[in-house]
Amino acid sequence: MTSGKPMRILVVGAGPAGLFFSIIAKRAIPTATIHIRERNPRGVTYGWGVAFSESAADALRPAAPDVIDALTAETRHDRMVVSLDGVGVPVKVGRSHLNARWSLLAILEEFALDAGVRIEHDCDAAVTESDMAAWDLVIGADGVNSQTRERFAEHFLPSVELGSNWLAWYGTPKPYPPSIILQNSEYGVLMVHASRFSAEMSNFTVEVGQETFDRLGFAGMTEDESRELCERLFSDSLDGAPLRSDHSPWFQTKFISCARWTHRNLVLIGDALHTVHPSIGSGTRFAMRDAVYLTQALDSANWDVEVGLKEFQRVRKPVADAFQTAAKRSIAWYEGLPSRTITHPTKFALEYLMRTGRVSYRDFRRENREVVLGYERDLR
Ligand SMILES: Cc1cc2nc3c(=O)[nH]c(=O)nc-3n(C[C@H](O)[C@H](O)[C@H](O)COP(=O)(O)OP(=O)(O)OC[C@H]3O[C@@H](n4cnc5c(N)ncnc54)[C@H](O)[C@@H]3O)c2cc1C
Repeated sequence: MTSGKPMRILVVGAGPAGLFFSIIAKRAIPTATIHIRERNPRGVTYGWGVAFSESAADALRPAAPDVIDALTAETRHDRMVVSLDGVGVPVKVGRSHLNARWSLLAILEEFALDAGVRIEHDCDAAVTESDMAAWDLVIGADGVNSQTRERFAEHFLPSVELGSNWLAWYGTPKPYPPSIILQNSEYGVLMVHASRFSAEMSNFTVEVGQETFDRLGFAGMTEDESRELCERLFSDSLDGAPLRSDHSPWFQTKFISCARWTHRNLVLIGDALHTVHPSIGSGTRFAMRDAVYLTQALDSANWDVEVGLKEFQRVRKPVADAFQTAAKRSIAWYEGLPSRTITHPTKFALEYLMRTGRVSYRDFRRENREVVLGYERDLR
């Protein structure tokens, strides 16, 4: 922009990070050309529902109030059930909104097209040196397995830690309130994160430690066999409802961070740059916050790419690092569960809500007085 010529921006990846950046950047500089390359066909993605907390929505709303209103119009919850061996403890939590991932992306894509962003689907092409020469600014928003990050690894210096638990992300028609379900079994601890995200469907993410994974023999099963075994293991909770698979293989989470965020006119955002963990339900918001910080940094530098990208890392990194520290505490708590014995459902609820260090016993007691009083009585 400093040269006076309309700016040309290439974005690789039409996930929440790439789409939200494109919407707010195009609105900030309408003369810019913004082109997104996305490897999937339009309307095709992975996964089921994603949670979006009210506090996340509030933080993002100033950047694009109409977009955030559209994303928070659907399913809302402000209570959850923490369940241990079939005994559920209902607890009050901050309000959250849930959307099917495909509908969240469809909404963002519609806003991006309305703003004048060009989206090229069926285009699998991580960023190359020639892209960097051809475009003023290049954004790598190609997700957790980013080929852009890997291609330029000697500049971004990524660290990738593999989680020790195994997860499979299913859907089910049973309408679950947001729930954490822990089941002690002869195979070890079985966990589920479930939550209704539309009138018809709930998430049902199964999480188990390595030993349980091995004892149940999941490694040698097909996706269908795993799904059927999970239906049997959780039949009491599912009440006969089926699990649905949508390319739901077992996976271990990748905890990613990069020492450097930019390389010349290329910058990474979203999961390509750094991840949190599905258990804290914040990856989408984390990715979209990157988009906001990046646009603000570029805007404050009058869209001078070199200055703006430095500013992005300077301002955003300390905030993102603190959030990743909280996510690490959550991961450690989940990964420690298989080797522990928890017998009291309220103690489990308490630990769950305090696991990142962001909710204190006092906060929990204030919001859930009756639950805590019952627990304190049991301890006497
Ligand atoms: C089991 C599970 C549950 C989750 N639950 C939640 C939740 O409740 N709440 C929440 O906020 N987050 C949740 N997340 C995390 C959330 O999905 C991610 O953090 C978020 O999608 C990151 O956005 P992104 O745009 O950075 O990456 P992505 O959403 O992964 O988007 C990247 C895009 O880049 C495209 N792409 C990749 N490579 C190429 C290429 N070479 N060329 C072109 N395009 C390419 C991909 O097709 C994709 O569309 C969950 C994740 C998992 C695995």
